[in-house]
Amino acid sequence: MIAANDKPKFYLTTPIYYANSRPHVGSAYTTIVCDVIARYKRMCGYEVAYLTGTDEHGVNIERAAEKQGIGPAELVDRNQKIFLELWKLLGIQYTHFIRTTETRHARAVQNLVRRTLYRDRERGAGQKAIYKAKYEGRYCIYDNLYVSDSPEPADCPTCGRPGELVSEENYFFRLSAFQERLQELYAKNPQFVVPDFRFNEVKSFVDAGLRDISISRKSIKWGIPWPEDPEHVFYVWYDALTSYISGIGFVDGEHDGPDFKFWPADIHAMGKEIIRFHAVYWPAFLMAAGVALPKQIVAHGWLLFEQEKMSKSKGNVAYPEPIVRVLGNDALRYYLLREVVFGHDGNFSRDALLTRYNADLANGLGNLASRVLTMIQNYCGGTIPASTAGESPESKYLFPAPADQARNSAIRAYEDFNFSAAVGAAWELVSVADRYLVETKPWELAENSEKRRSMNTVLSHAVGALHFALVLAHPVIPEATQRIWEQLGQPGKIADQRIDRLQWGGLKPGTRIGKPEGVFPRMDKKEASERIETMENEIRNPGSTQPASAPAPATGGAAPAAASAPGAKIGIEDFAKIELRVGIVKSAEKVAGADKLLKVMVDIGEEVRQIVAGIATAYTPEELVGRKLVIVANLAPRKLRGVESNGMIVAASVGPEGRPVLCTFTEDVPAGAKLK
Ligand SMILES: [Zn+2]
Repeated sequence: MIAANDKPKFYLTTPIYYANSRPHVGSAYTTIVCDVIARYKRMCGYEVAYLTGTDEHGVNIERAAEKQGIGPAELVDRNQKIFLELWKLLGIQYTHFIRTTETRHARAVQNLVRRTLYRDRERGAGQKAIYKAKYEGRYCIYDNLYVSDSPEPADCPTCGRPGELVSEENYFFRLSAFQERLQELYAKNPQFVVPDFRFNEVKSFVDAGLRDISISRKSIKWGIPWPEDPEHVFYVWYDALTSYISGIGFVDGEHDGPDFKFWPADIHAMGKEIIRFHAVYWPAFLMAAGVALPKQIVAHGWLLFEQEKMSKSKGNVAYPEPIVRVLGNDALRYYLLREVVFGHDGNFSRDALLTRYNADLANGLGNLASRVLTMIQNYCGGTIPASTAGESPESKYLFPAPADQARNSAIRAYEDFNFSAAVGAAWELVSVADRYLVETKPWELAENSEKRRSMNTVLSHAVGALHFALVLAHPVIPEATQRIWEQLGQPGKIADQRIDRLQWGGLKPGTRIGKPEGVFPRMDKKEASERIETMENEIRNPGSTQPASAPAPATGGAAPAAASAPGAKIGIEDFAKIELRVGIVKSAEKVAGADKLLKVMVDIGEEVRQIVAGIATAYTPEELVGRKLVIVANLAPRKLRGVESNGMIVAASVGPEGRPVLCTFTEDVPAGAKLK
């Protein structure tokens, strides 16, 4: 006899999201994908643990909180709630949630290091996994990554902001000593990272040789103290990655909670930008501590917004809440999984979303369900009809073959993370059922009492196809499929159906159906799009309903506004810190090797400043000479493409491409005049 708790186990995780701001459609995408996998696995008989959470430490959070004049604890409490509310709105069925500020997590992080230090006693000098050394380098606090391991100024490769100089004594992790063991891990597990083109990137990175990494900080206060050396706090990645075990009950490897039975994870899912931390650092940290390794790292691409990477500075971030409020949760889930080829970059477009909604949900599944239910209501006395062998009118669609085929394709696709194909298989069945009805015309059969059995057979096949489509699509569109399930008079939850055991004839003839009700009302595209946009603007600029591409006042290179929470206000004393002056352009020239940059000499009264500005796509050097503009005069000097820039030129950023438009005066003002 098999007891209920002998179900096979499955454990998957999303990244632990950084709690410095609210989630956009990108973080929702990862979380929805994991929810689809979790629901699918449950429908295959697995006991599933699904972990998500919030990463609440680090200098980034410290600074975001400071800007808003609150403590970091208050900031993360506030943001964590936004995450929880969104997951609720999206119907995410996670089973475990971890915040890195929880005591249980801090204890797990410290114990993971203690286990490593304990094992270090067996390792020879120069072989110890953790050692102390002086660190000097450049670090991007916005992306939490080392820009370079030398003190020379360097810009972040991800966001383009200048890296900050860090120099202090740190605890280091001897990653270099794990190269061979990682190579062995990859060789033995050809599916360790998917998709395989990402796996190849990881392998080349490791083959090129690994550098030791600093895993502690002295300069930061907002973090987990190092065991027995509390002057240091943990570097964010060591801290954040450990949530995958602390969140399901890891204490120290000896006294763990009951849910630690789920470890090792079957899947860590994430966006492509953080694979290295998961496929290289994390397994090495675990090897050093003697803890079992996760089985698979699954990476997806980026969601682009109308073909551009979403970023707050461009004002083109799409938020999930407005879409859900206008079209429903299922619409967003369906669109993301159908439209994006998992693993590759995908495009998010409001127009495509609404087109998909009307074509596939309203006219596709929704229409089939309401047609079939209405005909059963009108022609079969409201009970599910039985089919009679040999009573099927002539048709090129011979059920149950198309249904079996859809099930087999969908299962194969779900197992391969090919969600677009899984959904496609269910929708192919919807369209076969539609064509079958057009061909066999049950409404004509209904008028002839001698054709009664034929009509019953047709409707029995159609409702059988609908049944298959609902079960196959349930992980992706959980709400509508449950509602149609109830309209079909089926008992219990559709979630309790087994996808892997889905059989033709599962709907019992004679079952009384409920009242047919539309689940996906058709939308007027223009009107729905405007409602979504208005709500998105409200999120971006609370209190206003103006179009949101708020001109960012930054063109002096690449530094967009800091990662402050939307709507944060600054005091007049903060504004007074910025010295804005009128300047007159003396000369301008292109910067070699940079299409967008111009080197501009600007007279600001008492001196002529050299400023490098990203305006070359909009202005030629010639048309700038003699022009009056506004500059930020007290910006710390920095180098762009090796050319020193001493200040920043202020410009509006216009349109989706962020075309710079210079700020100027219509009245006469002298060079050097201060703006306030
Ligand atoms: Zn950066």
